[in-house]
Amino acid sequence: MDPWSESEGKRAHDPIFQCFNQNQNHLQSVENCWKERSVDGVVARSERTCFWVSGPIIVGAGPSGLAVAACLKEKGIGSLILERSNCIASLWQLKTYDRLSLHLPRKFCELPLMPFPADYPIYPSKQQFVAYLESYAARFGINPMYNCTVVHAEYDEQLLLWRVSSQTSGAMGEEVQYVSRWLIIATGENAEAVQPDIDGLQEFPGTVLHTSAYKSGSAFTGKRVLVLGCGNSGMEVCLDLCNHNAEPHIVVHILPREMLGHSTFGLSMWLLKWLPVHVVDRILLCIARAILGDTARLGLKRPTFGPLELKSLSGKTPVLDVGTFAKIKSGDIKVRPAVRKISGRDVEFVDGQLEGFDAIVLATGYKSNVPFWLKDRELFSEKDGLPRKAFPNGWKGENGLYSVGFTRRGLMGTSLDARRIAHDIEQQWKAKGTHPRGG
Ligand SMILES: Cc1cc2nc3c(=O)[nH]c(=O)nc-3n(C[C@H](O)[C@H](O)[C@H](O)COP(=O)(O)OP(=O)(O)OC[C@H]3O[C@@H](n4cnc5c(N)ncnc54)[C@H](O)[C@@H]3O)c2cc1C
Repeated sequence: MDPWSESEGKRAHDPIFQCFNQNQNHLQSVENCWKERSVDGVVARSERTCFWVSGPIIVGAGPSGLAVAACLKEKGIGSLILERSNCIASLWQLKTYDRLSLHLPRKFCELPLMPFPADYPIYPSKQQFVAYLESYAARFGINPMYNCTVVHAEYDEQLLLWRVSSQTSGAMGEEVQYVSRWLIIATGENAEAVQPDIDGLQEFPGTVLHTSAYKSGSAFTGKRVLVLGCGNSGMEVCLDLCNHNAEPHIVVHILPREMLGHSTFGLSMWLLKWLPVHVVDRILLCIARAILGDTARLGLKRPTFGPLELKSLSGKTPVLDVGTFAKIKSGDIKVRPAVRKISGRDVEFVDGQLEGFDAIVLATGYKSNVPFWLKDRELFSEKDGLPRKAFPNGWKGENGLYSVGFTRRGLMGTSLDARRIAHDIEQQWKAKGTHPRGG
C-alpha cells in the first residue's frame, strides 16, 4: 500500500481527519478533535492547540525559507512559515554589524524568481539586501508566523504526517502543534552563535560579545579590543575597530575580493568548470600572493589546504579582503597567535606574550540547531546539524522531509534547493490528484 492510500485509510477512522474533511482550509484548528484522538486504542489527550496545515510547514523565515515559500507559491502551493523571531531574515536584521555588505557579488545571492533591483551595487549593503527580501516576501504574499520557536518535530508513523511543536514567545507564551505531510527545514547553518571554550573567558571583567551582537566600533572608541576568530566577520569587525586599538587573532585564508578585474568568487566558479579544485586553489593562491605579497610575514599563516578545498572539507569560508589587509600591513591592526588562557584582563598567547584588553569580540562563527529539535536522524547529522549527504544530495529526506540552505554554498545553494523542493512537492501533489488551495 502506498503511503497516500495508507493515509487515506487512516483518515476514515481517525477523528482528526474527519475534522479535516469538514473544513479543508489552509490552516484549520483541530483542537477539539485532537483532544479526543485515538490511535491503536490509546486515547491521546492534549491540552495543546493543534492545527493542520494543508501545504508544507517551513521552519525559518530567512532567505531560504522565503525562497522555498516563493517557489511553492509560484506552483500554487501555499505553505506555513514558523519563525522564532519577530521579522523575516532575522540573522541579517538583528544579528549583523552595521557596515555589513554581501560578501559575494549580487549575482550569486539572488533568490529564485526575482532579481535584485538593477541599480543595486555589485555588493549590496545589508540594508539593501533586507529591503530586497522585504519586497520579495511582499511580492509572493509570504506572511510568516512570528515569535514561534519550533522546539520539537517528529514524523508520526500512525498518521503519516509531521508533527511540529512550537512555543510562542511573550507573556502569553503557549505551545502550539502543527501537522502536515511536508516539513521543510530552513533554520540555517548560522542558527546559534558558537561560544569558544577558553580558560578564563567567563571571568574576563571587560565586555565580551559575539559578532552576532556587535553593531559598530563606536561603542569601543579608545578601547583595546581583541577579536577572536578571523573569518570574514572577524576581519570586517577588525577593520571597523582598527581606529580603536583592535587586536585581531589568527587569520585562516585571505584572498583579495577582486582578481584580474573579476570577483574572486566568480573567477573561482569559472575556473572550476574546467579544472579540479586543487588546481584552482593553486591558481588563486598564486594570484593572491602576487597581489597581497607574503602574508606569512605578517603572522597570517595559510593552512595546508587551499581555500576551496578547505571550504569543502570544513565549511570554513575563505576570507575575502575588504580592506582589512591594508590595515594589518600598516600596523593599525595587530596580529596575534592563538590564545592559551585568560587571567583577569590579561590574555596569554601561545607564544608566551601577555597583553591586557578592555573587550573581547568573539568572531567564532555559528552552528545549526536542527539536532536539538528534529527527531529524525536520517537527513541531518547529529554531530554538526547539517545534512549527512554531501551537496547536491542533502536536500531531501524520507516521508516528506526537506532541507533548504544547508549546502555550505550560501544563497546560491539556497536557490538550487528551493527550486528542487518545490518541484518535488508539486510532483507529489499532482500525482495525488489533489489541487493546492494556496494560503
Ligand atoms: C555576516 C554574514 C554575511 C554573509 N554573507 C553572505 C553572502 O554575501 N552571500 C551568501 O550567499 N551568503 C552569505 N552569508 C551566509 C548567510 O547566512 C546565508 O546565505 C543566509 O542568511 C542563509 O539563509 P537561511 O535562510 O538559510 O538562514 P538564516 O538567514 O540564518 O535564517 C534562518 C531563520 O530560521 C530561524 N530559526 C532558527 N531556528 C528556529 C526554530 N527552532 N524555530 C523557528 N525559527 C527558527 C532564524 O530565526 C532565522 O530567521 C553570510 C552570513 C553571515 C553571518
